[in-house]
Formats: sequence, C-alpha cells, structure tokens
Amino acid sequence: MYLILFGAPGVGKGTQAKKISKEFSIPQISTGDMLREAVRNNTELGQKASEIMKRGELVPDDLILNIIKERFAQADCKNGFILDGFPRTIPQAEGLADLMNQLDLPPLLCLEVAVPNEIIIKRLTTRETCEKCGADYNPANNPAPADRICTICGGKIIKRSDDNEDTIQKRLQTYENQTAPVKGFYEKQGRFYAVDGNKSVDEVYVDLKAILKK
Ligand code: AMP
Repeated sequence: MYLILFGAPGVGKGTQAKKISKEFSIPQISTGDMLREAVRNNTELGQKASEIMKRGELVPDDLILNIIKERFAQADCKNGFILDGFPRTIPQAEGLADLMNQLDLPPLLCLEVAVPNEIIIKRLTTRETCEKCGADYNPANNPAPADRICTICGGKIIKRSDDNEDTIQKRLQTYENQTAPVKGFYEKQGRFYAVDGNKSVDEVYVDLKAILKK
C-alpha cells in the first residue's frame, strides 16, 4: 500500500497516518517529524531548516527529496508506506513520481483530509505535541496528561514553536499557494480522494478506510 495523506496543517494527517500505519503495518513517513528531529540534533539539515520552519515557509525541494530518497531505502519501506506532509509542491510530486518509477513501485493513492481554516486555526493554537513520536494532544478531545509525558511513547509533550497564531496564518498561506495545487497532479491521474476531516478521529478513519477498500 503506497499512500499520501494530504491536507493543510492541523487537519489531523499525523493522527490518521499513525492509525493506518499501525493497522496496515506500513511506516508513517512524516517530513515534518524528520525535520524537527534534525533540528533537535542540530545536524546540517536541521541548521538549514530551522529558521525556514519558524517562519512557516517550505524547506527547499532538493533537501526534502534527498531525505525521502534515503528513507525509502530503509528495509521497513519494502511493503509500502504512508507519506504525511510530503509532497508539498509540484516539483516534490514530480520528484516523487520519478523516484517511484526508478524503484519500480506501484502508483500512489492521494487521500485528502479537508477541514475549514477557522477550525484549523482553533485546533493548532490549542494543540500540543509529543516531541518524540509526534502524537497530538488537544484539550477539546484528547488532553495532555498532567505529567506531560506522552501516553504512547513516553516522550515529552511540548508546544510546537510553529503552532502560534502568526506562523499558523503563514503556514496556511503557504499551503494555499504552494501545496494545494498538488491535488491537481493526482486528480489528473484519477488517484485523488477527499474525506471530511471535521468529524471525530474515529469517523474520519472509517471514511479513509472505505476509500482504501474500493
Ligand atoms: P509539518 O509537521 O508537516 O506541519 O511540517 C512543519 C514544517 O516543516 C513546515 O511548515 C515546513 O517548514 C517544513 N516541512 C515539512 N515537510 C515539508 C515538505 N515536504 N517540504 C517543505 N517543507 C516541509
């Protein structure tokens, strides 16, 4: 199974990708998580990405395509994967298609989770995240425990530095300008489906699975 989970920041891609990853035994590949890890470890990539991420802009395509290429070479990718937060530009989608061809992998299916912007802004301003596994916590439906230790992996729960109102607005603009056009890339191939993300986590998951069964 080779999937892309598509959508604006804060629509719940990471949460749904984790559920799909667990049920279908394929890795979740989140470029955002990989970049945050590089920033924490202060690697060369992390140093290049850090300021760009703080501004809510996109890290250059060549850097992203390099980390994806390295990731695809790892053994856990041999039966498929679910991409979360990638591709985010048309050149990334084209680079991904080339890579899939070179590796002789089947066509990707792109699933969008769609949520209105005013709800995204509310979700992201109140969201907290495990810095280790990327799990999301939110006072509305999944509050962080008092000890601020992730119930899934034992990591530390933090407020992401880009989950503040100014950066959220910028990330949404970046999404509209650079990422939303990627939909057309997969629509043209008949490989694009959208679900309503303004429902409970479990309801969205049921809708996504219904598409996977088609
Ligand atoms: P995310 O965790 O997916 O919301 O990503 C956080 C930030 O990492 C984004 O706002 C971008 O600055 C950067 N980023 C993550 N994935 C990509 C990507 N595929 N292309 C460019 N920048 C990315």
